[in-house]
Amino acid sequence: MNCCDEKPIISLYSGEKLCKQHFNDYFENKVFKTIRQFELLDKEENLGVALSGGKDSLTILHILNKLSKQNPKINIKAIAIDEGIEGYRDKTLEKAKGFCNENNIKLHIFSYKEEFGLTLDEMLKILDVKPCSICGVFRRYLLNKKSKELGLTKLATGHNLDDECQSILMNQLKNNIEASARLGPKVGLVHDEKFVQRIKPLYLCTEKEVTTYAFINNLLDEFNECPNVPQSFRAQVRDMLNDMENKFPGTKYSIVNSFLQILPLLKQKFKSEAIKACAKCNEPSANDTCNACVYLEKLKKSIEVN
Ligand code: SF4
Ligand code: ZN
Repeated sequence: MNCCDEKPIISLYSGEKLCKQHFNDYFENKVFKTIRQFELLDKEENLGVALSGGKDSLTILHILNKLSKQNPKINIKAIAIDEGIEGYRDKTLEKAKGFCNENNIKLHIFSYKEEFGLTLDEMLKILDVKPCSICGVFRRYLLNKKSKELGLTKLATGHNLDDECQSILMNQLKNNIEASARLGPKVGLVHDEKFVQRIKPLYLCTEKEVTTYAFINNLLDEFNECPNVPQSFRAQVRDMLNDMENKFPGTKYSIVNSFLQILPLLKQKFKSEAIKACAKCNEPSANDTCNACVYLEKLKKSIEVN
């Protein structure tokens, strides 16, 4: 079923085919509805947007920037993390800088090299670890720490429905259901000063929808993928889910929708009384020492030995 006489540019899983203008309206309305449904924003926010320069983060920054123009009490800043991945992050950061310049958005960039002394590429030459494990730990660490330093009330990320679906399944496959209690459209504790709450306004938008929105709004002219992606467990789960979605359209929605129904129970079951602070850096941690400090110690030891 077509939306109107204009040429359709996308077919939704419901079978509906939308033209450029109708898809644009559909997508933006879906994001605004998600924000209302999950109460992602308060009336006044000093909102950070985690910007990688890829399609998801440019899309969410583009939409939240529109929202902040209609609502001057929502103040927007972008934060980018430069992990130091040659041939990839340098390109996406250029895109991020260009977008923020054109749209007059303040961009703060923090790098692993400056904060930890080594780029991710250098770390991976020293430690035999999965790239995304170490990279993810340091990124979450820096985003939380810098968000606090910048006085942000919340941090919006570009996670979409496909990302969430992959995380749910990865946690199941690794028998790590406790990690799923930390998923959902709103992550982190509101009432703990060690955390800056993270929100995911693209939570109900599929990867296909985000990519389409990014292209028709000229947010992205080329597709860049981190060279470490193919090695990741996530990439294998992604391919499996895409295969299922092709065979059984709506699979991803079903997984996320059913997850949302059990999420309150998971949060209740794994509710921690108090969040510990890392003994070394004072950042939030499940153990006495946080994962970032554990990796930093391992790096230091390996450098000393060699
Ligand atoms: Fe880091 Fe993995 Fe993402 Fe690359 S794909 S930026 S290594 S988390
Ligand atoms: Zn620490």
